[in-house]
Amino acid sequence: MNTFLHDYGVPDTDTLSGLILMKTPSRLTGRPFFTSHPNLPFYGLIQYACAPHILRSRNRIPTMALKGQVHYETRGDIALLTVDNPPVNPLSSGVRQGLLDGVEKALANDAVKAVVLTGANRAFIAGADISEFGAAATAGASLNEALNKLEGSSKPIVAALNGTAFGGGLEVALCCDYRVAVATAPVGLPEVKLGLLPGAGGTQRLPRLVGASRALNFIISGEPVLAPEAAELGIIDRVIDGDLVDGAIAYAHEILAAGGKTRKIRNESSAVEADRGNPDIFAEARKTAAATMRGRFAPEMIIRCVEAAVNAGDFDAGMKVEAECFAQCLNHPQRQSLIHMFFAERECAKIPDVPKDTKTVDLKSAAVIGCGTMGGGIAMCFANVGIPVTILEMEQDALDRGMGVIRKNYERMLARGRITEAELNERMALLTGSLAYEDLGSADVVIEAVYENIDVKVEVFKKLEQVMKQGAIIASNTSGLDVDKMAAATSRPQDVIGLHFFSPANIMRLLEVVRGKDSSIETIATSMKLGKTLNKLAVLSGNAPGFIGNRMVAGYTRQAGEVILQGATPYQVDGVLTQFGMAMGPFQMNDLVGLDLGWRARKLAGIDPANVPITARVADKLCELERFGQKNGRGFYIYGDNSRSGTPDPEVVEIVEQTSKELGIERRPIDDDEVLKRCLYPLVNEGCRILEQGIAIRASDIDIVYLNGYGFPDVTGGPMFWAEQQGLDNVLADIRKFQKEYGDAWEPAPLLERLVAEGKGFGDV
Ligand code: NAD
Repeated sequence: MNTFLHDYGVPDTDTLSGLILMKTPSRLTGRPFFTSHPNLPFYGLIQYACAPHILRSRNRIPTMALKGQVHYETRGDIALLTVDNPPVNPLSSGVRQGLLDGVEKALANDAVKAVVLTGANRAFIAGADISEFGAAATAGASLNEALNKLEGSSKPIVAALNGTAFGGGLEVALCCDYRVAVATAPVGLPEVKLGLLPGAGGTQRLPRLVGASRALNFIISGEPVLAPEAAELGIIDRVIDGDLVDGAIAYAHEILAAGGKTRKIRNESSAVEADRGNPDIFAEARKTAAATMRGRFAPEMIIRCVEAAVNAGDFDAGMKVEAECFAQCLNHPQRQSLIHMFFAERECAKIPDVPKDTKTVDLKSAAVIGCGTMGGGIAMCFANVGIPVTILEMEQDALDRGMGVIRKNYERMLARGRITEAELNERMALLTGSLAYEDLGSADVVIEAVYENIDVKVEVFKKLEQVMKQGAIIASNTSGLDVDKMAAATSRPQDVIGLHFFSPANIMRLLEVVRGKDSSIETIATSMKLGKTLNKLAVLSGNAPGFIGNRMVAGYTRQAGEVILQGATPYQVDGVLTQFGMAMGPFQMNDLVGLDLGWRARKLAGIDPANVPITARVADKLCELERFGQKNGRGFYIYGDNSRSGTPDPEVVEIVEQTSKELGIERRPIDDDEVLKRCLYPLVNEGCRILEQGIAIRASDIDIVYLNGYGFPDVTGGPMFWAEQQGLDNVLADIRKFQKEYGDAWEPAPLLERLVAEGKGFGDV
């Protein structure tokens, strides 16, 4: 186990995309899992993450031949060790053994005075080799042995970072005496993103090198920095211009000329001594973690490790705390969920009938129709990445208002230090307002964001058909209308697609790409690529009402509306769901969006109040009392001046109770467990239908949508993954029970019934 503890680590970076992930049946369990490159037996950590029982099968795993190597050569009085394990030099068996052998060889040679350690290929060392889990115990030196050998060297070792040094890779560098790097080398400890911590001494050595406060920021954020910033932090001693190895050797000679001292971080104590007796550092870190990583388990473990580095007295005692905390992270369900999401994000780019080499168009200019909430935000997305965009409105007033909102948004970013004044001006200069369709003709992509009305949209598409150049992508940001109807208004349905951004479009990461029945694979591939260009997470959806996200959310909000009529309060419901980890509860969400939208629409459509769905009755009553939500300070909650967090209002509870009475619904206490299940299981049930009907390609795509578009907590892995963790059989049993009590809205999805009957999971679909 201990070997594995030190052989974890999937850097959250595309660097590791060199390990091609595929779904194949595991040789050990027969179940499909993510596996790595075909010539590797399986993707170890993921196997472990998905099937903890695998640990019990370890003795059945064959010993692997050593993988990767470390070249040894001498250059004068310097031994040069070069890690070579393409493509990203993970810490495989052969690398660990090579490090150990290389240092021993250098120590045994009296002519060698110092060692330089670098990487061949594009990385220094991108992290641990997770493909070797299981076999690692029997193949080559353990990571601990290799690290001890490096750190125990009596001759100074200079780590020369030629490229990525993530996770275990940076921990190797921290066991060397000195560190130099090229300016482009990214350096990071991203383990927290997978619910883990740097368990090969990273939490102990980094605070000794740069102080507890910097170490905490670096490890808890998990964000990599480039070498110059790492040098400012004190992680790197020198950034080398020109040839790295020559520069590192010259640096080693400087050290030798100055007496050839080694510098073992484990023995450095001044930084942690300075932090001792300053508990504010840790209180501050806890506050930051609570704000930026709400509900996450690993940050607290990291803080405990760094506290131990400062207070435990000696290095080895701190290492013991690190090992214990690492084991706790490893065994925590959050780690499983976060690893699921890590792979889900990589999977969602793959579309079975759209080959990777499908021709895509380079989108160099864009147009947006409508400069309202969404059009303005979408235009910002383009300007933010340097793509010029023309925005069309119906009238000058609306255009001026929309452009004014965009400017205000940028000014807010400037005030917060997120952009410079020059960037603000550059971005604004990329935006051109227009009232004439003729101005759009040269754009490579146009996105319509006018009112959510199919007739209005069809009219817009007819005009776009006339002006857009051939081959341009013609897209709609509709929230759920029929993309094919819009495509039919043109003579080029192959170029038409849905690009469903989420509000605020310039911030939300999710982009649902909605394929119409005639969307060409080139249009799909180009749209998915556009998502990446705009820094979005693009998920492909079929064209069905509400697509993936809004279709699922309907059941969630309907149940929230029902439970309050049956006995819960809006505040109980919001409390249960935020406690679960949702960014906000359904009634807080209603207040944010505006209760009046639905109310006004129903009035406009002349719907008889008696025919308003019962779950909308309370909101409509609140609107009659001019309680529209956050926008006018009163909705389900009361909001103070400019406050976004509301206070519960007993008057609302009275209105809810009165509404139940009018509807003849007998109220009863509803416990939190039922509230949670009634709100979340509709997501799962509808998710199953979406999957079965092929609207979503895979269950993990649905998880991505919910996490990135609807505030579902990432530590749960998304609604589908969460449901599997509850046991699909348990979920189905509850859904059947609710069907008996509350009617056929709860009819179980056929796919759910089938999976339970066959004892299968979503991975089998
Ligand atoms: P909005 O009312 O804020 O903006 C619509 C804008 O379109 C207005 O400025 C209006 O003047 C303009 N417009 C209307 N008809 C036009 C036409 N024929 N030509 C040019 N401009 C025209 O609406 P919104 O919230 O930005 O929604 C726009 C679209 O985005 C809708 O389809 C909506 O369903 C979708 N959407 C909205 C959200 C959201 O949260 N607001 C989220 C995702 C998708």
